[in-house]
Amino acid sequence: MEFDVVIVGAGPAGLSAAIRLKQLEAERGQEISVVVVEKGSEVGAHILSGAVLDPRALDELLPDWREEDDCPIDTPVTSEQFLYLGPSGSIPLPNFGLPKMLKNHGCYVVSMGNVCRWLAEKAEAMGVEVYPMMAASRTVRSDDGTVQGVIVGEVGIGRDGRKKDTYEPGMELRGKYVLFAEGARGSLSKQLIAEFGLDKDVEPQKYGLGIKELWKVPDEKFKKGFVQHTFGWPLKNDTGGGSWMYHFGDNYVSVGFVTHLNYKNPYLSPYEEFQRFKTHPEVRQYLEGGERVAYGARAITEGGFQSVPKLTFPGGALIGCSAGFVNVPRIKGNHNAMKTGMMAAEAAFEAVQAGREGDELLEYQDRYNNSWVREELRLVRNAKPLWSKFGTILGAIALSGFDIWTNVLTRGFSFFGVMKHGKTDAECTEPASKHKPIEYPKPDGVLTFDRLTNVSYSFTNHEEDQPLHLRLKDETIPLKLELPVYAGPSQRYCPAGVYEYVEDGGKTRFQINAQNCVHCKTCDIKDPAQNIVWHTPEGGGGPNYPNM
Ligand SMILES: Cc1cc2nc3c(=O)[nH]c(=O)nc-3n(C[C@H](O)[C@H](O)[C@H](O)COP(=O)(O)OP(=O)(O)OC[C@H]3O[C@@H](n4cnc5c(N)ncnc54)[C@H](O)[C@@H]3O)c2cc1C
Ligand code: SF4
Repeated sequence: MEFDVVIVGAGPAGLSAAIRLKQLEAERGQEISVVVVEKGSEVGAHILSGAVLDPRALDELLPDWREEDDCPIDTPVTSEQFLYLGPSGSIPLPNFGLPKMLKNHGCYVVSMGNVCRWLAEKAEAMGVEVYPMMAASRTVRSDDGTVQGVIVGEVGIGRDGRKKDTYEPGMELRGKYVLFAEGARGSLSKQLIAEFGLDKDVEPQKYGLGIKELWKVPDEKFKKGFVQHTFGWPLKNDTGGGSWMYHFGDNYVSVGFVTHLNYKNPYLSPYEEFQRFKTHPEVRQYLEGGERVAYGARAITEGGFQSVPKLTFPGGALIGCSAGFVNVPRIKGNHNAMKTGMMAAEAAFEAVQAGREGDELLEYQDRYNNSWVREELRLVRNAKPLWSKFGTILGAIALSGFDIWTNVLTRGFSFFGVMKHGKTDAECTEPASKHKPIEYPKPDGVLTFDRLTNVSYSFTNHEEDQPLHLRLKDETIPLKLELPVYAGPSQRYCPAGVYEYVEDGGKTRFQINAQNCVHCKTCDIKDPAQNIVWHTPEGGGGPNYPNM
């Protein structure tokens, strides 16, 4: 099937690009055909964000959104709190001490999954073809390597590689330009970045793992529009991360915890840290008496300004978190994902109308270089490296706070210049011999839960008889290296309990329970030997997030 523009991923970046293309079609009276493919069972099924949405990009894309009755963005932020947590107490950071950029006034608490559902309806009404249940598993190339499209929707292959009765061959979707909007650690984007050397002049991308629960709480616990962020406990000073809690909609509380994936101790479990965090008095007071209604996890990009790769290659471009535009101290990336989608769409529209195809959309790179997205990321460029280098108290609170203020007041000067991130997150993991195991409390089943029970609240489902989508480059490494040297960290970093070392007839075996995978991509990022490669499973597989 031939299109002018093919978009991979129906998140905020992909859908904003699609809408912008059709707006230009209407404004200029010049046709453009656009298709969006999405691996989830429906649009929104794989979207996991906090989320407090900065409406800056949305105001540009759909200026009348506030007047629309069916718009799911209806909880303005009303109050906010920034806390440094100790084991039982907390110190509030004064709001007046925060630069305006870090405040949430004027933002909205949303379910980004529902925002994407709404954006997809809009895109379809404008003539975009939106296909959920379609995983793009490969790129289509010309002889000279130009990206010409993607293969989607191949289903019905058994685990052993045989074609089952349900087999349906994949479809080739060809586009004059292909925009990759797969989000953090996109599987095709990762290949393209490596193959075209898009990251050769930038710092390695950094990530965090965000684990989220959605709660429904009684009236007396609910403070619509309340936003709380914390750092500190339960993480130690040398481990980066922090929490969010957002009250929105009809008595919903989104609560979650991001652990920076450059942690050193392979015994650390981001999942258990999150469970422990909920027991803090500042948190439990809002959740007690409520009910957890959904669970999920997703990696978030954290490299920021100095890790943004080159955005274009022959035939396509990276938009949104496929490239990584999250502002880490704000924990916000949705507005930047949307805006980069819009900028790529404008460049692609002009190129198609000029009769071009398959070349580089350098106008998109130019637009980004002169955009408010780049400027926003530039002002906070040292927050993450300072945190990683000096720890939470000195790095994240003192030095980062000072550096962001300096940048804001001088429009971009920093005493630290542009700091480097150095190692990848996988390289940061240290041998277990340098650390002590961490003992985590047992779940109580009321406020804290075991992993597998929680995974059932992600409504994850995969066809079982299909090739493993979590592939080992070398099958011997889990037992030869990762268990003896790193104490088998995949057992702990995976938030869905996919990886296990099982005792079987006196022998240890590495087991992959792929059907539990919630597509967070952490294994692809954190595995110390970079031996686990995440591929797309059959379309429609994975979590089925309701209001995440
Ligand atoms: C825990 C957490 C909390 C966050 N909190 C906030 C917040 O409060 N505010 C904020 O502004 N930002 C927040 N962010 C960041 C924000 O969510 C991201 O910046 C944003 O989601 C990026 O949008 P995207 O469209 O690039 O990617 P995504 O939202 O990840 O969407 C990508 C889509 O592409 C699909 N896809 C991927 N690969 C394929 C493929 N090969 N074939 C077909 N489909 C594919 C996926 O299923 C998904 O639907 C948070 C992120 C996380 C993880
Ligand atoms: S298997 Fe990998 S991608 Fe899937 S949930 Fe576990 S860590 Fe995330």
